[in-house]
Amino acid sequence: MTYLCVAIFVTDLAQARRDIALAAESGADMVELRIDTFTDADQLRELVSTAILPVIVTCRPEWEGGNSEATDAERISALETVGAAGATYLDIELATLRRNPPPATDRPLIVSTHDFTSRPAKLGNLLIELNQSPGTINKIVWTARSIRDNLEVFELLKQRHKPTIALCMGEAGMISRILAKKFGAFLTFASLSTGTGTAAGQISVREMKELYRWDAINPRTKVYGVVAQPVMHSMSPAIHNAAFSATNYDGIYLPLLVEGSYESFKAFMETFLDFEGLDLSGLSITIPHKENALRYLQERGGEIEPLAAAIGAVNTIVIDRSTGALRLSGINTDYAAILDSITSALGIERKDLAKHRVAVLGAGGTGRTAVAALAACGAGVLVWNRTSEKAEALAQEFNGRTGQVAATTLTELIQSKCDIYINTTSVGMYPNVDASPIDDPAECFTSDTLVFDTIYNPLKTKLLKQAENRGAKTIAGIEMFVRQAATQFGAWTGKAAPRELMRTVIERKLPK
Ligand code: NAP
Repeated sequence: MTYLCVAIFVTDLAQARRDIALAAESGADMVELRIDTFTDADQLRELVSTAILPVIVTCRPEWEGGNSEATDAERISALETVGAAGATYLDIELATLRRNPPPATDRPLIVSTHDFTSRPAKLGNLLIELNQSPGTINKIVWTARSIRDNLEVFELLKQRHKPTIALCMGEAGMISRILAKKFGAFLTFASLSTGTGTAAGQISVREMKELYRWDAINPRTKVYGVVAQPVMHSMSPAIHNAAFSATNYDGIYLPLLVEGSYESFKAFMETFLDFEGLDLSGLSITIPHKENALRYLQERGGEIEPLAAAIGAVNTIVIDRSTGALRLSGINTDYAAILDSITSALGIERKDLAKHRVAVLGAGGTGRTAVAALAACGAGVLVWNRTSEKAEALAQEFNGRTGQVAATTLTELIQSKCDIYINTTSVGMYPNVDASPIDDPAECFTSDTLVFDTIYNPLKTKLLKQAENRGAKTIAGIEMFVRQAATQFGAWTGKAAPRELMRTVIERKLPK
């Protein structure tokens, strides 16, 4: 069993009791009481002896990242006091034990070492020392330099000689906290609520359980995730973990912070794909890695969906190990989501798009995807972009494959009387919710127009409100977001995605 442990800074007796009760209520198995600045022996005895969860007690000195200014002897004495009062475990720094005998206690010791700047230079030596220490449990924690440091943590857990707590701090190390259970760690730490943790990268206990499926994780759980920089704003973990839960699929979906360069992407892929026991099984790829994913798959001989190659962007990697050999394939679920959102709103098939004239606003990643997909279906496409050279280059690239594509000005686009308008610019996206790429909707929207805003935050943009007021049909960005995620889910699991649930998850997270 891997315990879910809530770390609590003790400032007074009442606060500590309240926090222990809250930890128990939110489903934690254990608490760590940080008594760095709370040293009253009588109150400590009372706190520990009446705690309703098993407790680890730690009095962390400043030189090891804590707040205690006490001497070694004073801290050891405090640990002996709480040990006698019935604390379940006592945590003491390896550095303290190097110059002092261990506390006189019958309580099991967690012997810990922390590096707040980087990976410890002599990790191997540190481990030997921990294994030879009087501790029952080893604890080794450092700040991740990159996401790859997590793999070293997993290796430590796999090769442990004693029960072990091994974690990476910081955003890049977050996955070590969640996957601690998959690799059999003694415990992982969580905070009581978001932002109140005792170390960087800590997730709240509620998020750990509800968002990251803590109770379902086991050694065979397949690992999925979104590769991005930045990544923490992504809604993909919420949507995919909810889908895994609803379908009883043994998977966990993680935010994977990978620095933007191709070299970093490649290093991530090579190490994570090969790491035994990780079961990396599928990836969503987003900014800035969609081109990197395509290049990596090309170099590695992966299978690439032709339109994804033409668009120049892979947003989904499927990792298949079912035959014993590793097979990688890259698809782009955004383009299918754009096409399917339109065809289902109009009740037509993709081939029928050849009869339509479509105005695309924007020539960034999503604009490019929309233009390529619509042209492939034979639609006539007009594209406008703030930076006009990008629209012209895009039109030149996709014109005639199969539909006609031309670049134009915003004025001409508005007067073009296209029957479908798609906004792929970020104009109107949160927090600039009062902005719209179109000033006067009366010029272009009628009851026969279909207006599709790919923005999903907010759920209803100003552009969509303008379109509704003109009686036009509308498609909101959530439609595309849910469709692209549902296709990813199907490609990875072979199961039908619980689309309505996925939609509800996103709707709950976003402002109307
Ligand atoms: P991107 O590659 O950075 O492209 C941004 C586009 O917005 C460019 O065309 C850019 O024009 C334009 N733009 C930015 N600020 C502008 C302004 N003030 N005035 C006019 N044009 C402006 O980003 P992306 O990945 O394509 O994303 C674009 C939008 O698509 C985002 O709002 C995003 O939410 C949405 N999206 C939705 C989904 C979904 O599933 N629903 C998926 C992906 C993206 P320049 O070239 O001149 O800079």
